[in-house]
Amino acid sequence: MKARVLSGVQPTGNLHIGNYLGAIANWVKIQHQYESIFCIVDLHAITVHQKPEELRAKIRELAALFLAAGIDPAHSSIMVQSQVSGHSELAWMLTCVTPMGWLSRMTQFKAKSAAQEAVGDGLFQYPVLMAADILLYQAAVVPVGDDQSQHLELTRDIAERFNSIYGETFVVPETKLPGFGARIMGLDDPFAKMSKSAAGAHHAIALLDPADKIRKTFNRATTDSNPAVDFETMGPGVQNLLNIYQAFSNDNAEAMRNHFTGMRYGDLKKQVAEMVIAHLEPLQQRYQEITKDPAYVESILQQGAERVRPLAAETVHLTKQRMGLW
Ligand code: ATP
Ligand code: MG
Repeated sequence: MKARVLSGVQPTGNLHIGNYLGAIANWVKIQHQYESIFCIVDLHAITVHQKPEELRAKIRELAALFLAAGIDPAHSSIMVQSQVSGHSELAWMLTCVTPMGWLSRMTQFKAKSAAQEAVGDGLFQYPVLMAADILLYQAAVVPVGDDQSQHLELTRDIAERFNSIYGETFVVPETKLPGFGARIMGLDDPFAKMSKSAAGAHHAIALLDPADKIRKTFNRATTDSNPAVDFETMGPGVQNLLNIYQAFSNDNAEAMRNHFTGMRYGDLKKQVAEMVIAHLEPLQQRYQEITKDPAYVESILQQGAERVRPLAAETVHLTKQRMGLW
């Protein structure tokens, strides 16, 4: 039997090249080596307020983007978290073995709660739900971007703690980061990771952005006071542009140096933009095709949920048994 992979994306905002390079492109690459489950984590999305109509639409959009990016639904399950009740059921059981001190150390909680007027408890509990998403399927491998490394460590801690209190129950999962593109930074602020929830108009490149917009956004990207690329002294903005290029082109370090050393920033930005456009255009075409048939996307999500429900039920049953529940 193949080991299981699980990963997810929140159906909020616009999917960007950070999500693509950090997570989805990696899923596409490794999906056939594993039994793969890719989850649209709508229960995570509601940890901050979402307009119901928008959330409903975003779930479908995200499913279509997974397909357009190359997730193979004949092999991999694409499913919506709230369609499988085991996620929230297991989350409660895991909440009861998770010390609050562990959760209060999570840097994402600190960053996301700082932006909220009233912080919902869901934002604090978020990493436990994420642990439940993974442990529910006994996933061995979790391909994510670097920003999720801390949550993955917590997932392992929760699994180990549960196993040591109640006996072997959960597979302890490994984090799998991509070789390039594990942490893409904001184009307007190279000290903050690119995020769907960030507000700046020139912050991110969305996967569905038209070519003109992509060129404009790269053109405005923050660089530094050097006139041209210097690998010894470059700042984080230039580094980020080179990282984006390399993650799409797969060039090695030497090829990157040879190609970009001494290149003026205006030309660098143009080359990065054209590299990104060349990769996104076929994805965008597939997306247009797929969304012509909304019933197809619905059927993929139904099929995905049906496929994984028995796996989820098995773990919920085992966990209840271990804890002495009815
Ligand atoms: P939000 O701001 O709503 O949290 P997000 O951009 O962080 O949005 P998520 O849905 O939280 O997106 O994360 C989906 C996946 O994308 C995760 O695997 C995460 O690690 C990865 N990811 C998110 N941002 C980046 C980034 N800037 N670089 C690389 N990977 C990223
Ligand atoms: Mg995030």
